[in-house]
Amino acid sequence: MAAAVLTRLERILDLEEKQGWRNRGVIGGLQAMAERWANDAHSEGLPPRQIAALTELMRAYGAAAQDNRASIASAMRRAANLNFGDTPEPASDVHLTTAIASEDAADDADPLVIPAGDFDEASVDAPSDAPAPPRPVSTSPPAPGLGTVYTSEDDEEFIIPPPEPTHKAEARIARQQQKARRNPADLDAKVTILSGVGASTAEQLARLDIFQVRDLLWHLPSRHDDYSQMRTISQLQPGDQATIIANLWDVRERKVGVNRSMVQAILGDSTGTLHATWWNKWIIKQLKPGSTLRFSGKVGLYMGQKTLDNPVFEDLDDERVATGRLSPVYRLTEGINNNRLRNLIYDVLEGYAQLVADPLPTVLRDDYALLDLSTALWQMHFPETQPQLDAARRRLAFEELFYIQLGVQQRRATLHQADAIPLPQTDAHAAQFQGILPFALTGAQQRVIDEIRRDLARSMPMTRLVQGDVGSGKTAVAAAAMWGAATHGAQAALLAPTQILAEQHHRGISRLLAQLLRPDGAPVSVALLTGRVTGQAREVVLAGLTDGSIDVVVGTTALIQEGVEFANLGLVVVDEQHRFGVEQRGVLRTRSSGQPHLLVMSATPIPRSLALTIYGELDVSRIDEMPPGRTPVKTKRFTPAERERLYGFIHREVAAGRQAYIIYPLVDESDKLDIGAAVDEHKRLQSEIFPDLSLGLLHGRLTGSEKDQVMRDFAEGHHQVLVSTTVIEVGIDVPNATLILIEDAERFGLAQLHQLRGRVGRGQQASYCALVSRTESPDVRARLDILTETNDGFVLAEKDLELRGPGDFLGTRQSGLPDLHVAQLTDTATVIQAREAAQKLFAEDPMLERHPLLRGQVERFWRGHGDVN
Ligand code: ADP
Ligand code: MG
Repeated sequence: MAAAVLTRLERILDLEEKQGWRNRGVIGGLQAMAERWANDAHSEGLPPRQIAALTELMRAYGAAAQDNRASIASAMRRAANLNFGDTPEPASDVHLTTAIASEDAADDADPLVIPAGDFDEASVDAPSDAPAPPRPVSTSPPAPGLGTVYTSEDDEEFIIPPPEPTHKAEARIARQQQKARRNPADLDAKVTILSGVGASTAEQLARLDIFQVRDLLWHLPSRHDDYSQMRTISQLQPGDQATIIANLWDVRERKVGVNRSMVQAILGDSTGTLHATWWNKWIIKQLKPGSTLRFSGKVGLYMGQKTLDNPVFEDLDDERVATGRLSPVYRLTEGINNNRLRNLIYDVLEGYAQLVADPLPTVLRDDYALLDLSTALWQMHFPETQPQLDAARRRLAFEELFYIQLGVQQRRATLHQADAIPLPQTDAHAAQFQGILPFALTGAQQRVIDEIRRDLARSMPMTRLVQGDVGSGKTAVAAAAMWGAATHGAQAALLAPTQILAEQHHRGISRLLAQLLRPDGAPVSVALLTGRVTGQAREVVLAGLTDGSIDVVVGTTALIQEGVEFANLGLVVVDEQHRFGVEQRGVLRTRSSGQPHLLVMSATPIPRSLALTIYGELDVSRIDEMPPGRTPVKTKRFTPAERERLYGFIHREVAAGRQAYIIYPLVDESDKLDIGAAVDEHKRLQSEIFPDLSLGLLHGRLTGSEKDQVMRDFAEGHHQVLVSTTVIEVGIDVPNATLILIEDAERFGLAQLHQLRGRVGRGQQASYCALVSRTESPDVRARLDILTETNDGFVLAEKDLELRGPGDFLGTRQSGLPDLHVAQLTDTATVIQAREAAQKLFAEDPMLERHPLLRGQVERFWRGHGDVN
């Protein structure tokens, strides 16, 4: 009975012989298949000693020089044909010696059946069905134990030498010698200096933003294929969609009918063989017998045998695949396939990787256990192991985050350049403020107010971000800070993104602060300055700001226009700060002689790692507690079919004296003109569904003051329903609105939906948020359902970031950060490490004078972004 494993081995040896003993008949070489082969052999019941002998020979074969492999192969053939079952020899030395001593017996029988010649035979690729090779029983006495010393067929002794360089290795050495003559400037050379890269390849590479040699090193793989995870031929099942790596053992064209022909190939790996068929005869030109390829296709059955039908295939360079189980897959462009790019990058790594200067100081690399840059690039492209790839990625990610954090440190230093007026607050003054509030502060509000109080007492300007969910009570915190300034006779300005918000703040803040007295005994005076404040009224405000009689001014960007002068601006508060650019925030600070303290407030809950990055120059406080007595908004998902019911619900709420929002998405965030849905639907709803009500309409094509007018009309109850796109104000407070219906809810991020939901639930009444979505996708539904489960903005923000990534999370204009190639802003651990490292280095060497390379990198990295210079 012929063991299939033996037949398989013999075929492989035949293939080896045909290919000149290159050890390429099996992926990774014969040595690579030893273990699996042994397993198969055990399960087929081969004698353990025979298995041991053969696997030892396989390993020896791999280690041997090409010239010496033929004799090892002969030894293997003999060992394969011996009957070990009856030989009562000591196990220790039987394996090799037996194999070699039995050569005479093996000579006459060549049992190796290579059936690749006939495709019409169904048995071609079924080793188990192949005729049993005769297995002569050895009668020769065993030769003395030889260890790794083999006796050749001529009875000469030879010792298997250590692995010798192959022609590939020699080529590599030659290339290494050549690159020794290179200098770092070559990295900046055009790609055309590379051999094999001409003008047309250069053009194609340019489409991938690859111009210089250096760029190839930084064209990082978008993923790796893990060949160790690929299936073997023996594992394939009919019906599978599979990818295998196999040797192309044979290929031929076969006529089927008059004008039709097919191409059939035999593919083999260390576990078996398989047919592949194509119905395109031209494909034969691309199939070179003896090559190693990756095949992907559907596994079928043909005459009882497993086949791959029309598989797509890709050539693999043995050396490169064999050296790493993880093979890089690159972003491509027409004309350049992955193989080409991989080889090109491999060559560039070989020739240039060690020329790349590492901008990260050695001490820092040691402190954070980071790979050096050259190693990281190698492992990023051609990782030896998954952990090595992870280490490479971590190193490159760290580097990017480190640049960001160094930039952030510079911004911070700029903010702290000039001295501010210290505004320490007495306990008596703090108590006075508490006294005028109509409610007790929450613990979180109190904590944040205390943090601000400590900041204000210093001459280093405060730069603090207060994050608090909608309704958490940020206004009271801002008022406390402004009161702190007023007790010193210093002015405070609050910048709001829209007129209506400015007006709202002005009403609330003047109601509060006007009850307090400033040092000269007069009540604190609070003024409003927006585009709507014109003529005489405006002159009065401007004069009051200039002569110092106004203590607090609330306004829009009208506050940062020419002609607005402050007598003694001590504090700037920016509300809904993400609505302003970095520059706008900066202008107000320059409007005063000294550096005013800065307090920015945001209702966008931002996950910690992002806050450290985007607002890294700011200290962050969180109001993570809601005032008591809020009834959470009831949130539920609906299908479009349930819309009529929702309209009915709106009718009932309005009949009870309440108001509602109906929100439509913009198709594309950048396309602010896409107002179709809201405009059309407003018309339809007004005429068909709610003819008895007044419906307001708010969208991006309205001017700022038009928007304000619509909002004002809604707030004052002139409209019962407000139809709007997402331009609806985040901070707007209409306590009478109790229902928000959001159409196509799946188009919004969780954080954004949460913001929208914050429009309701601001009064005493129970409130509702209806998410209408036509989606069938369980994933999308699950995402929307998260909103029905939590009202915590920070939880939702973390989820959103996780699900959508920082780009989407922040929207287009908000992040202002350079592009990241490797780093993830969600990678909190690395963000924190990079920040710590940047703070340390910055403290020692703020201008990076001792790290010129690093300085250059940081500048390049930030170029065109933010105000790092
Ligand atoms: P936001 O953080 O969204 O700006 P606001 O400052 O507008 O929140 O506060 C929302 C509402 O909660 C306001 O009506 C405010 O008066 C009220 N509020 C704020 N703090 C408290 C508190 N500690 N207890 C009760 N109500 C509060
Ligand atoms: Mg607010």
